[in-house]
Amino acid sequence: MSMPQGLPCHDAVIVGAGFGGMGAAIQLRRMGYEDLVILEREDDLGGTWHVNHYPGLAVDIPSATYSYSFEPNPYWSRLFAPGPELKNYATHVAEKYDLRRLMRFDTVVEGAAWDEAAACWTVTTTAGEQIRGRFLLTATGFLSQPKMPDIPGIDTFAGTIIHTADWDDDADLRGKRVAVIGTGATAVQLIPTIAPEVAELTVYQRTAIWVAPKIDYRVPRLVKTLFAKVPLTQRLMRLGGTSILEVMMVAGVLHFGSLPGANRLGAKVCRNHLEREIKDPELRRKLTPDYSFGCKRPTFSNTFYRAFATGAAKLETEPISHLDADGIVTEDGRRTDIDVLVLATGFDLWDTNFPAIRIVGREGRDLGTWWRDNRFQAYEGIAIPKFPNFFSLNSPYSYSGLSYFTTIESQMKHMGRLLGELQRRGASTFEVSAEANDAFLERMTEKLGDSVFTLGSCATSRSYYFNQHGEATLLRPTSTVNAFREAGSFPLDDYRYA
Ligand code: NAP
Repeated sequence: MSMPQGLPCHDAVIVGAGFGGMGAAIQLRRMGYEDLVILEREDDLGGTWHVNHYPGLAVDIPSATYSYSFEPNPYWSRLFAPGPELKNYATHVAEKYDLRRLMRFDTVVEGAAWDEAAACWTVTTTAGEQIRGRFLLTATGFLSQPKMPDIPGIDTFAGTIIHTADWDDDADLRGKRVAVIGTGATAVQLIPTIAPEVAELTVYQRTAIWVAPKIDYRVPRLVKTLFAKVPLTQRLMRLGGTSILEVMMVAGVLHFGSLPGANRLGAKVCRNHLEREIKDPELRRKLTPDYSFGCKRPTFSNTFYRAFATGAAKLETEPISHLDADGIVTEDGRRTDIDVLVLATGFDLWDTNFPAIRIVGREGRDLGTWWRDNRFQAYEGIAIPKFPNFFSLNSPYSYSGLSYFTTIESQMKHMGRLLGELQRRGASTFEVSAEANDAFLERMTEKLGDSVFTLGSCATSRSYYFNQHGEATLLRPTSTVNAFREAGSFPLDDYRYA
């Protein structure tokens, strides 16, 4: 990448205008950096909550927890808010913190390279534009590159194909024969929502998902007023939600070996839910996961099982052989004619998303190549040796807990401590040392030894928590309390300053 002369070097370039990118911008502002540019490939802000608008979209983490702690929203309509409210919340945050004017939409970033001489990053867009920044922050999300299934004959299908991450709001499913491929968290929300309006709904499940009941309700006006007038009450609610997730995810999944009871509890809650909802033993067997609770992200729903129990949706577990112009043929030779094929097939994390753009650091180190040749790794899930002034917000071991906001806010804290030290020293660059990075990787690898990923039975789970080498390098295998503590207390000498 050639290094352009004469372009201004902004304080920072942030890639991604979702909640991660906006949190990073708010933190940079708090640290006194005002000259920020936020580049976004979509035509508006909100990240996943802008892109996703499939029927039934809602947050599946309680909303008091799935939001910034410093920007509580007392007005969520439900305990688990519907998707459009999350998009509105993102807009509200952008306006309140005056972030929109920093954003450039429809700007697809191709790559970024460190300019050693100028101590500045050069970011290049697919349109050929170059934008420079002293700090580079990638907030490109984990679930941002939709996965298209490689099913023979899919391109010969004559009907409509819709991926859930590219939902066509004009698509009219009423009276149509619809097939859904996938039973992840997205499909679990979509299936019961579209089931009542379609003529036929066939769901192709390859791997069953653990589903917990969703204790959801409309928030009464009185409670909203209470949250607005006495914010402490909503903070307590947040603490409650966060604690339940901590027990399920952190104790039950990450400390599987030392706290096996928490995992058993999570599995039992889901199994009881299934047994209550599905009476037919054969259907129940098909919907029962054959891998340990937590190997794959579990989800919450009161209506998913009911869609099958009532016959509104038909479960198909025979593997798909191929598609033709009229529909889907399974391996046993049965065919189902359909009008619309819905791909709830999720996202590609490990091939196209780590990192989502080409990033070249010092001495020509290419991050994607280096991760693939040397294991996926990032010090405290945020920094990588030979990448000065770079915050990689969607890194291996960065995802902490179950609510993404835990990750965002612990990373904001890490940024605050590091940038504070940089300023105190009057330095202009930081870079994590290889030794600190190695020690962190070793520690995370050791901690994974206690997790369900190592000790449980995950072989059949097909979970995106595992990378292509079979290592569970997505989640930080510690409590969220530990993540926050370390973000505010990591040894400052783990970085070099110049
Ligand atoms: P996902 O969990 O990766 O699920 C994709 C589904 O498609 C799986 O059931 C998968 O089966 C199936 N699939 C993929 N390729 C297939 C193929 N070639 N043939 C047959 N089946 C195939 O994706 P997702 O449901 O979109 O959810 C992704 C994540 O988004 C969730 O885990 C969650 O973190 C997040 N999410 C959050 C919310 C929320 O409310 N906060 C809502 C929705 C999603 P296999 O398992 O066999 O591969």
